[in-house]
Amino acid sequence: MASKKNVYFFGKGKAEGDAKMKSVLGGKGANLAEMTNLGIPVPPGFTISTDVCAAYYENKNKYPKEIKDEVEAGLKRLEAVMKKKLGDPSDPLLVSVRSGAAVSMPGMMDTILNLGISDKSVKGLATKTGNPRFAWDAYRRFIQMYGDVVMGVEHSKFEEALHALKKSKNIEMDTDLKAGDLEKLVEEYKQIVKKNTGKDFPQAPLDQLWGAINAVFGSWMSDRAVRYRKLEDIRNLKGTAVNVQSMVFGNFGDDSGTGVCFSRDPSTGINEFYGEYLMNAQGEDVVAGIRTPERIATLAKKNPAIYKQLVGIKNRLEKHFKDMQDMEFTVQQGELFLLQTRNGKRAGTAAVKCAVDMVAEGLIDKITAIMRVTPGHLDQLLHPMIDSNAQKGAKALTKGLNASPGAGTGRIVFNAKDAELWHGRGEKVLLVRKDTSPEDIGGMVVSQGILTSTGGMTSHAAVVARGMGTPCVAGAKGVLVEGNTVEIGGKRFNEGDWITIDGTSGEVYEGKLPLVAPSISKDVNTFLKWCDDVRAGSVRGRVKGFAVRTNADQPEDAKRAFDFGAQGIGLCRTEHMFFDKEKLIHFRAMIVAETEEERKEQLKKILPLQQKDFFGIFKAMEGRPVTIRLLDPPLHEFVPHTKEEVEELAGHLNISAEKLHSKIGTLIESNPMLGHRGCRLAVTYPEIYDMQVEAIAQAAVECAKQKIPVHPEIMIPIVVTARELRLLRPNAEKILEKVFTAAGVKVPVTIGTMIEVPRAAIRSAHIAHYADFFSFGTNDLTQMTFAFSRDDVASFLPFYLEKNVLDVDPFKTIDQDGVGGLMELAIKEGRSVKPDLKMGICGEHGGDPTTIDFCYRVGLSYVSCSPFRVPLARLAGAQAVINNSGKNITGGGSGKTKPATAKVKGSKKTVKGDKKMAVTSAKKKPAAKKKTAKKTGAKKTGAKKTAKKKTAAKKTGAKKKTGAKKTGAKKKTGAKKKTAAKKKPAAKKSVVL
Ligand code: ADP
Ligand code: MG
Ligand code: MG
Repeated sequence: MASKKNVYFFGKGKAEGDAKMKSVLGGKGANLAEMTNLGIPVPPGFTISTDVCAAYYENKNKYPKEIKDEVEAGLKRLEAVMKKKLGDPSDPLLVSVRSGAAVSMPGMMDTILNLGISDKSVKGLATKTGNPRFAWDAYRRFIQMYGDVVMGVEHSKFEEALHALKKSKNIEMDTDLKAGDLEKLVEEYKQIVKKNTGKDFPQAPLDQLWGAINAVFGSWMSDRAVRYRKLEDIRNLKGTAVNVQSMVFGNFGDDSGTGVCFSRDPSTGINEFYGEYLMNAQGEDVVAGIRTPERIATLAKKNPAIYKQLVGIKNRLEKHFKDMQDMEFTVQQGELFLLQTRNGKRAGTAAVKCAVDMVAEGLIDKITAIMRVTPGHLDQLLHPMIDSNAQKGAKALTKGLNASPGAGTGRIVFNAKDAELWHGRGEKVLLVRKDTSPEDIGGMVVSQGILTSTGGMTSHAAVVARGMGTPCVAGAKGVLVEGNTVEIGGKRFNEGDWITIDGTSGEVYEGKLPLVAPSISKDVNTFLKWCDDVRAGSVRGRVKGFAVRTNADQPEDAKRAFDFGAQGIGLCRTEHMFFDKEKLIHFRAMIVAETEEERKEQLKKILPLQQKDFFGIFKAMEGRPVTIRLLDPPLHEFVPHTKEEVEELAGHLNISAEKLHSKIGTLIESNPMLGHRGCRLAVTYPEIYDMQVEAIAQAAVECAKQKIPVHPEIMIPIVVTARELRLLRPNAEKILEKVFTAAGVKVPVTIGTMIEVPRAAIRSAHIAHYADFFSFGTNDLTQMTFAFSRDDVASFLPFYLEKNVLDVDPFKTIDQDGVGGLMELAIKEGRSVKPDLKMGICGEHGGDPTTIDFCYRVGLSYVSCSPFRVPLARLAGAQAVINNSGKNITGGGSGKTKPATAKVKGSKKTVKGDKKMAVTSAKKKPAAKKKTAKKTGAKKTGAKKTAKKKTAAKKTGAKKKTGAKKTGAKKKTGAKKKTAAKKKPAAKKSVVL
């Protein structure tokens, strides 16, 4: 530490740091340095590095002496440049003490302004500036902030005193308070501090400074900062930096002011200077929502020279950083200063518009554009809007600022705690407040929307809501919150009443208006086409491209997904079709049937209905591949439960309810998810799959006859051994053959399987012989690998996450070490038999960006997700390609591929888990050998495998397992990787089951 530089100066056109040093200087400090170097007017100061924050915590909240000296030397230098001394009684230097980590955390850390004022220096300041009102205003603000942040006196205690004073004077605005009033207020504030802390307000400038620096470092671990980092998944930061910067004063009088501005509109992305400001105000006033600020455009009239200078600077900064900038400025007596710039947070619409426009302007290239938009941004674009018919009929109660787009409807709650409480009970809530502050985060997250009566577009509520993608209407003057009731546009509402807000227009409506999904705009289409191009152009070994499919069971879903850009259907679940009322009765009749004849009788009735559904889906997909999964759920799920259902079925079958009852009893299972389901159904009742295959074939024939291109893929679920497929595949082939021959048409149909049982993953080399493709059913694979029942995890999973037993919910993001390890194994083994075996994922995980990245790295050809996540997956897939470009990817099927060594953003693999895996699978070796040896007669596949090869397979099978696991783990050593890769060629063939 001692030898390292800890304090970085900036000022007078030169800085010791620059924009690239964010990890050391924090985002704020790095960009203050950069702006200084660019010659932009920035008040001088110095930045204490993030390493000091780390040292502060390591050292039990104390600093090594050298750091103390270095900071005080920095202060001396600043004093020399400013020609003033901190807290000097006759002409004090005042500073701000500002936090700033490498990643911006708006409103999360505490800033102290006007530090250096004391009972003595306030008088010097008044005399020197000739503005006593300003001096006393600065002092009372300082005591308020310092008292709150450093000394722990509740903010509201000061607010109450201020309020009482204004009331006694019968004035509304802070700005109307006179110097004498403020002097009195300062006295009162000091007493509040004394009363609440037992201490006097510190008068020595250096005590004040160190108190503030400690508070900033202390705020790094404050509850709200920790919570914010957790919420936003911000990890691996050293800490916050501290910026000590000479003050400039926007509260000097009417020729002064302060504001926040964006180089483009952060809600819409339109290239228009955007922002707001307040005259005679300081720092937080604009964002705090105390007064509603003025739009930046009005500054052009009020002070054309400053406006022009500001426009020049924002243009320069945007060009320089090649991104939309979010800036803070202050005008002191007609002189402009920049206090901060950063890449602006933006709503989804704005993110896409900025990206597309900036490419057109030649500011950035397409790859940069793709990396600028987050999957979350796109998700927002698919947020609901108010149904236009309903909106036409409804009259808005009032209109506020359209602070964060999208519509939300929920029941009114008035504070964050209630929001969380109600949400916990499963209620949809809409948070209505005068304004919000960082303590409200928890309640904001769970709200369908946020409505505030004060504050502007850069108020806390607006900024945070945009970041979270939550609809927000801010600064709605027609909203008056009074305790637990609110008046909106003159109408009274109570807690629990429904309202709807439209964050895109700023309107507020009574009641629960219907919301609909929006359509995709031209910009979004352009943008997603770029993403498609990137994915299509990707190459991993023999795998070309990386497609996005959808999970859709109904023609309407398929149509929607097609419109959202799905390149096929990765999973069409046929059971949803059976649950359809019309089919259910026949299906039930089928499962309780006593004989094969009876079963076939019932299935015959279902066949045309299924065929119709398949035809609809094929048609919607216009020739793109459609993977249809044959019946999967346990029969148990179809069994009639209620008395009425049993009676209805008995009537339908013309048998007694008692008889039916006893039959039903035999179908009930105690562990249905591990029971009579998937291809097991077809092993017992082949006619079920036969009927489904026939329906698929007939629907394909119908398409062919109507010249509709069609590409069916039949998928067999819950396979555990190759012998199931050896039994079932020929059945399906026979039926296809029969139907196509009879119709005189030929439609190519592939037959593949799901890999969703751990055994299937382990035995995938054998299964591959009978499968044209694999699709990873990661819901079941996760459930069975963890032995966590998906339907029952709620009782323990939250504790696993809270106690860090697991990092993430394995049903949301794939567990790369365990479940992912099995996938990698299956991919390697499968492709060792069929190098071009097509593989994809169709579990819920297919729409999760981190999982998508994993799927890309391990060599899957496509991901499949729900229709609404398709656009997001198109982007996440492209980002995976870009993030991993130039890196060796596994699972490409070339036999030459090397493990990925890439450090991939957002993936949280750990090494530990892998080690354990290696041990376990090594132990499994003997067992694998034994089984292989036993089998002999499995040569049906047509491959002429020799005994020699079998032996080879035996060995490699086991060894490869070890190799396979390595592939996704980025932290493995090179030596090990090589061994794994080398063994592959030997893995060629295996016929054994
Ligand atoms: P945050 O990260 O919460 O925005 P900042 O450190 O940027 O906190 O400061 C809060 C407010 O105080 C901002 O409006 C900022 O412009 C203002 N401010 C900070 N330092 C100074 C300064 N030296 N002079 C004038 N205003 C300042
Ligand atoms: Mg702040
Ligand atoms: Mg700021």
